[in-house]
Amino acid sequence: MTIAASPSSLRTGTVDTHCPYCALQCGMRLTGTEIEPRDFPTNRGGLCQKGWTAAALLDSPGRLTQPLVKVDGELRPAGWDRALDLVANRVIELQARHGADAVAVFGGGGLTNEKAYLLGKFARVALGTSQIDYNGRFCMSSAAAAGTRAFGMDRGLPFPVEDLRDADAVLLVGGNPAETMPPFTQHLRDAELIVVDPRRSATAELANLHLQPAPGTDLALALGILHAVVADGHLRRDYLAARTTGFDEVWRIAATWWPERVERVTGVAAADQRAAATMLATAGNAYVLTARGTEQHARGTDMVSAWINLALALGLPGKPGSGFGCLTGQGNGQGGREHGQKADQLPGYRRLDDPAARAHVAAVWGVDPDSLPGPGRSAYELLDSAPKGLLVFGSNVLVSAPNAARIASRLSEVELLVVADVVMSETAATADVVLPVTQWAEEDGTMTNLEGRILLRRKAVTAPPGVRTDLAVLRGLATRLGQPEERFPEDEERVFDELRRASAGGIADYAGVSYDRLRDGEALHWPVPSVDHPGTPRAFLDGFAHPGGLARFAAVDHSGPAEPPDDEFPLQATTGRVLAHYQSGAQTRLVPELMAAVPELYVEVHPDTATRAGFADGDVTDVVSRRGTVRARVRCVPTIRVDLVFLPFHFPGDERANLLTNPALDPTSRMPEFKVCAVRLEAVT
Ligand code: SF4
Repeated sequence: MTIAASPSSLRTGTVDTHCPYCALQCGMRLTGTEIEPRDFPTNRGGLCQKGWTAAALLDSPGRLTQPLVKVDGELRPAGWDRALDLVANRVIELQARHGADAVAVFGGGGLTNEKAYLLGKFARVALGTSQIDYNGRFCMSSAAAAGTRAFGMDRGLPFPVEDLRDADAVLLVGGNPAETMPPFTQHLRDAELIVVDPRRSATAELANLHLQPAPGTDLALALGILHAVVADGHLRRDYLAARTTGFDEVWRIAATWWPERVERVTGVAAADQRAAATMLATAGNAYVLTARGTEQHARGTDMVSAWINLALALGLPGKPGSGFGCLTGQGNGQGGREHGQKADQLPGYRRLDDPAARAHVAAVWGVDPDSLPGPGRSAYELLDSAPKGLLVFGSNVLVSAPNAARIASRLSEVELLVVADVVMSETAATADVVLPVTQWAEEDGTMTNLEGRILLRRKAVTAPPGVRTDLAVLRGLATRLGQPEERFPEDEERVFDELRRASAGGIADYAGVSYDRLRDGEALHWPVPSVDHPGTPRAFLDGFAHPGGLARFAAVDHSGPAEPPDDEFPLQATTGRVLAHYQSGAQTRLVPELMAAVPELYVEVHPDTATRAGFADGDVTDVVSRRGTVRARVRCVPTIRVDLVFLPFHFPGDERANLLTNPALDPTSRMPEFKVCAVRLEAVT
């Protein structure tokens, strides 16, 4: 079913490129399957274990190299024409019977900007469906919503990563970069580091002050620290008057959250809250950074807003040498949320319900603005709706979606499931048609890293025969659906030039970015509105992106997790990543060194909790929530809270941590509550 390409057929010379995994986009040099680190501002010559071993994906025996079509319940090799004809004919049939929205599209945060852009255009123009969303909804959407609410614009870090080197204090909330992106931590080396995390993570070990709140209580903690800032006379009143609006409503809430009250809710000592406030307020340069731990909640947008409120009260955003930012996780988590694969969005971070935005993009696409569908469902809602047809590009939703058993059941009802991917992911294995596509080093394309810098990732090796680019797949399908060839180019640079025009004048304006400028090594952070514009490494210095230029406080209050613990499920579970694996693990589980490092699901448990439940370190337990059960090996960790267990989410089948997770959705971002649900430990029967 698959063939392995030999290393000798891969070699095309030495090429400077970037790691295929996370949003740090570390610089590396690739010669065939040999990797060496490269000096680049985000990694400064560092790579993590995933980066060092990334070339294993290029000649992995697990690589897909020919289209597969399900016949009599089994996936069998097929030619490209047969596979694409089958998909197009079934799409036409399903839409004729059930309407355009019967066919949905699901994208990924690892897709290049060109792919994310063309996928959005394919959905709206070739399929005419409103049903498109992507897995970044599970990852960054609460940060994006809160950033837009406060600043009028969502760029994860509105400053270069290297600026952090001059910080005197950094507050990092719900992030564990020492495992997820280790080279990042070198930028924090000289700062007083405060880490907020219910686990004593590898990053918390580096901290000067570790605050360990009960899961789902971050918002109360942010209010407590804000209260201490004001009570101790650190409020930056000049900054508030000149650059913000809305503090009074926030203070009406924060005034009721004095640190001793917050201690009773969060478990974080009042003295530690005051210490954090003092460390941040007395630092010359300070930053507040958030990540998934505070975002992946049913009130994730409000939680991020609470930390933004704190940063604004300290006068940090938009000030040289200080700031607020969110650490993007997926490789193109930033660019992937800017150019049209989100349910409510058009390229350039334009809104799909904005008539002027529709007119601009429709003109670039050569279609009638009225022909563009409106906003569709968010990721979980889209999957849960069981569309008649579903086309998945670069996402392994059977492992990565919350409430995974429910999603698997709903996807079993889909009449046509098509997966375009590099490897046989768990989702691809259940598909009706599997389309093998090129991966990072086999194609050109741009990525936008966690600081909003656009990078050109260049082709370094020859793809195995039988593999096509996603752009070629979209073109092949679009033309079969009646679209003119010229509307769906497959040349990456041509697609990017069209993206530039479509994004021109938008929030994420790439109009002035060109492949030539990127080839010349220019550091271009968006917005870049013209070819003679130097880019915007530091946003907000002259004003925020709201009309009038003021940042907006958001009056938010604590409410706790959607599913609190009770007698039946007395513990809380949280999920996250480990150093050796990435996202659903579909790629990293194919790398022998990474699988040797972490081969199976485990559950971190406090020794006292394990003893009370009848387990010892190394035992196997069932972890049970209202939605499902996973089997995991117990790791006793004395530094974790006694009311909390932790599971990594990289494993398939019965080891899917997302069998447990709660799909309660944030009302603004539609982000599920991955980070906390109620569970119990049970003996294996
Ligand atoms: S996974 Fe992230 S931190 Fe690790 S090498 Fe790749 S880009 Fe760098």
